Amino acid sequence: MLGAGMSGICMAVKLKRAGITDFTVLEKSHDVGGTWRDNTYPGLRCDVPSAFYQYTFARNPRWSHGFSAGPEIHRYFRSVAKRHGLDEHIRLGTEVVGAEFTGGRWRVRDAAGNVREADFLVSATGVLHRPVQPDIPGLDEFGGAAFHSARWDHTVPLAGKRVAVVGTGSTGVQIVTRLASRVAELRLFQRTAQWVLPLPNWRNDPLSRALRARVPALTAAEYEVVKQAFNVLVAGMLRPGWQRTLISEACRLNLRTVRDPQLRAKLTPDYQPMCKRLVISNGFYRAVSRPNVDVVTDRIDHVEPRGIVTADGRLHELDVLVLATGFDARAYLRPIELTGPNGRTLSEAWAEGPRAYRTVALPDFPNFFMLMGPHSPIGNFSLVPIAEAQADYALRWIEGWRRGAYATAAPSPEATERFNQGIREAMPGTVWASGCQSWYLGQDGQPEVWPWSPGRHTAMLADPHTHEFDIHAEGAANR
Ligand code: NAP
Repeated sequence: MLGAGMSGICMAVKLKRAGITDFTVLEKSHDVGGTWRDNTYPGLRCDVPSAFYQYTFARNPRWSHGFSAGPEIHRYFRSVAKRHGLDEHIRLGTEVVGAEFTGGRWRVRDAAGNVREADFLVSATGVLHRPVQPDIPGLDEFGGAAFHSARWDHTVPLAGKRVAVVGTGSTGVQIVTRLASRVAELRLFQRTAQWVLPLPNWRNDPLSRALRARVPALTAAEYEVVKQAFNVLVAGMLRPGWQRTLISEACRLNLRTVRDPQLRAKLTPDYQPMCKRLVISNGFYRAVSRPNVDVVTDRIDHVEPRGIVTADGRLHELDVLVLATGFDARAYLRPIELTGPNGRTLSEAWAEGPRAYRTVALPDFPNFFMLMGPHSPIGNFSLVPIAEAQADYALRWIEGWRRGAYATAAPSPEATERFNQGIREAMPGTVWASGCQSWYLGQDGQPEVWPWSPGRHTAMLADPHTHEFDIHAEGAANR
């Protein structure tokens, strides 16, 4: 398996619970936790309620908040891995560079030149993990500290400093909200204004935590309630309806809390709420209204040793430059190169953009499954139940193989094209196609995410759709 983040831990635990123990998880980094290991920036919080951002097989009754902070979430994933005895399966510091399917098995190569053989390959490499370094002239010449939000340099002092944040996605907003009162001057370089939905966060008091620990059904019930609410809201947000109206109005009302009309004008988006991934924040508008905070909307022209120069010729002198410029949402498992039995590579298969069979598999790549693959429902929704549904799907195929039902299986190109055609046909009319730039869009400018409710995705994966696979029985055996 590739990756020991949220999805990889999920798959590994599911394998163990099914009695399958002969597996290895290859992790390029030196710790588990994926995005929650990489992102350590000030203000990091998950904007999905903790009650719903957890595995159904490892419910945590002791979340400190309604929306818990990054370090607590990282501790949760590490503790699940430890409790389920994954240490003996995970090889840290092992970066996979390629895998070839030959002789009915996957040969997986790591950067140190080691080759491991496996009957199945499961990729759990995450979606948003390759930081985008913006193409700003002179960036390397900056004289102060500069780093991407996902590579936060905690040795750099911030108190009393002049700090710039480039980018106003969920990350930039969380950083600005946290840093505004802690630095001397904060400049937010905003290319596109964001709609911001205010949601209150609350502390789970010791009594309620103790109660949840004593009565596990409470945590389970809470999970179900939040899940249903998200299903209804998220699915309803995509097309016109009361959910979209409700959330849009809440965003517009929130914007009106910005008293300064000039600042409000700068912060007013020129596209519909939810076209980009919705930013959730209770304190962002308060933070940018502070006298030491400036929202700069002039285009960045270049960086020089003293700071950022905007298109109007103004030099913004800085000590620290934070790039909250997002991630390559189309990388998926790349740059890892896969080669199928007929010599077809992943680069060739994805030359026109990442496509998958029902978000989990690829034609020409047998016995290969993806968690968080292309078109997964990854907008404003919890990725944990998505990973669980995808892991269950892969597990069903692996169990079939162990029973001797087949030797190799890959989805047919026709079934994959039918699925992708369905996705393309469902896209017009969704809010993502309503006219804005976002990481939801593929290289052809069309949205690439799941265009229906997350519940429909789970229901789809409950059936393995075996008739849509090219199956080879030769060499199958009961194991
Ligand atoms: P993002 O949403 O892709 O935002 C990147 C920001 O950088 C955008 O404002 C973008 O402007 C700006 N940008 C990029 N290149 C630029 C350039 N050359 N010059 C000026 N501005 C530039 O990335 P993100 O904020 O890291 O968030 C990514 C995703 O991670 C989120 O959508 C979410 O799924 C996840 N996330 C979740 C949480 C959470 O609480 N659960 C927190 C953080 C992140 P444009 O809008 O103009 O492109």
